[in-house]
Amino acid sequence: MKMRYNLKEKIAKFKAWQKHPREVAPNTQEEHECLNCHDHYTGNFCPRCGQSATTDRYSMKVAAESFADAYGMGERGMFRTIRDLILRPGYLILDYLRGMRASYFAPFKLFFLLTAISLLVTHGFNIKRQSPSDEDAKHAVQEAIENRTADGTNTVEPEISTVNDEGVPEEVNRIADRVTAIVFDLVDKMERFEKRFSSIFMLQMLLFLSGYLFLYFRHCPNIPDMRYAEFFIALLYITNMYTIYKIVFDFFCLENLSMLPVFFTIIPLKQMSGYNWWRTILKTAIATISMFVLLIVLLLVGLAVIGLFVKWFG
Ligand SMILES: [Zn+2]
Repeated sequence: MKMRYNLKEKIAKFKAWQKHPREVAPNTQEEHECLNCHDHYTGNFCPRCGQSATTDRYSMKVAAESFADAYGMGERGMFRTIRDLILRPGYLILDYLRGMRASYFAPFKLFFLLTAISLLVTHGFNIKRQSPSDEDAKHAVQEAIENRTADGTNTVEPEISTVNDEGVPEEVNRIADRVTAIVFDLVDKMERFEKRFSSIFMLQMLLFLSGYLFLYFRHCPNIPDMRYAEFFIALLYITNMYTIYKIVFDFFCLENLSMLPVFFTIIPLKQMSGYNWWRTILKTAIATISMFVLLIVLLLVGLAVIGLFVKWFG
């Protein structure tokens, strides 16, 4: 009984911590002399030139920091931002949108950094040292085996187009075959792109979805007058959260779990909007379904266009 109470208390404490914005340390009251411009002041930074009050002598640590700085990772906010994207992603987004810019690593910078790490991990820097080029090789071998006929020569065209069941005109059959081949090729290419550049693919998907999601979230309790630009930044942070999980899963080659991070995107949407779980899930589901309906309509139009193209130009 006591244990359970403790756990409940801990969860309540954690929830309060999640919602509480970061507290920036107060200014020191000590007087400093700036080592750069020799102004005297109290505070953490020189008001004249901006140099930090804690400017130490040059050391290996300072060298490491300025090295990291050259690659855009010098800010201490990076680790806090990654931690918060795991533990309180939606509340971090709220903090950021409400003006706490200096406390968090900028979303675009983080996106490029995480995308680079994700590329490394999917291209061999993982426990199995697997990379998409291995898969391409396997794919090519498989294709060659499938296309080989009994006499050992490669003939790709079996006589599908002459098979004429149910009185369908041969012309229509031929067009349908071509269109199917083109679509399969496209889906195959998309799948390979997703495997190689999952964070970019995720951002694309979210951008594609963003219009619909925005319609359902722009008057949410926490930000009743949300702008699209703000929502875009939120989606960028959500993509970053997704990429962090994806990097971990890809590193350990957990292919069965690779879809899981997609569902994690509900968490920041819920925390940011202030809707309850069910409303968040419902709104996201409706937005996703309306996106797919439009996508299917576009696909049908596209198929019709490809069909006409094949008909006219072979
Ligand atoms: Zn100064």
